[in-house]
Amino acid sequence: MSNAKNKVIAITGASSGIGEASAKLLAQNGAKVVLGARRTQKLENIVEAIRVQGGTAEYKALNVTDREDMKAFIHFAKDKFGRVDVIFNNAGVMPLSPMNALKVEEWDKMIDVNIHGVLNGIAAGLPIMEAQGDGQFINTASIGAHLVVPTGAVYCATKYAVWAISEGLRQESPNIRVTTISPGVVETELGSDITEASAKEALQEFRKISLAPDAIARAILYAVSQPNDVDVNEIIVRPTTSAF
Ligand code: NDP
Repeated sequence: MSNAKNKVIAITGASSGIGEASAKLLAQNGAKVVLGARRTQKLENIVEAIRVQGGTAEYKALNVTDREDMKAFIHFAKDKFGRVDVIFNNAGVMPLSPMNALKVEEWDKMIDVNIHGVLNGIAAGLPIMEAQGDGQFINTASIGAHLVVPTGAVYCATKYAVWAISEGLRQESPNIRVTTISPGVVETELGSDITEASAKEALQEFRKISLAPDAIARAILYAVSQPNDVDVNEIIVRPTTSAF
């Protein structure tokens, strides 16, 4: 598994959780990582930590819901390193709630970040990868792309959408690898934006069995590291003892 070395990898949602862990692990394995998110102080600290370890990393402020911002982010990666090998569309939000709570603005936010964010990443990166003749999209879905749970109707819908978009892109793109990663429960900041009491409680219960973000980072490294003619299309990573 030596194929991560020198790859230029743009990661959205890299300021915490799975994105942060993946940036660090990929950089340790010789990739040139470009980190994007809104909290730039966190990005700066992570980039600094990677560089201290001898890795290569850059960062840029990014709001994935803004198409032009995403284009600027991906082009920043290309301008810095000459190409873009992998785009890890990882940014996501999860303000869970029962539908009858009518948290309609939170529904919109999930659709904007989790679906439009991924589409914006594809729109920004696809022309570059097609011109290069190769590339890889890794899109973060969830076990919520495979099952629906109460309080998760809209969140799961966004992740089913990520699954469908990724599969469609894969079928249409003979030269581009497309990987959908579906994590089970992982201990991160995800869900810190839940405003509905029963959903907050449910998440605490779910989190009793959870993985560290590094478990997902290792799966990402595996998918990136395969030779160009091997496309790892789908990975589901759950805690061993988890039923969901
Ligand atoms: P975190 O909350 O730790 O990370 C989410 C990241 O997304 C942060 O870096 C955040 O950065 C970024 N983000 C949110 N909104 C935006 C935005 N508008 N523009 C740019 N970046 C944004 O959670 P995770 O690491 O867990 O989440 C990563 C992905 O994994 C998500 O897609 C999530 O749905 C998915 N996932 C997580 C699971 C879990 O149990 N943790 C399970 C299954 C899937 P900032 O706020 O600085 O912008």
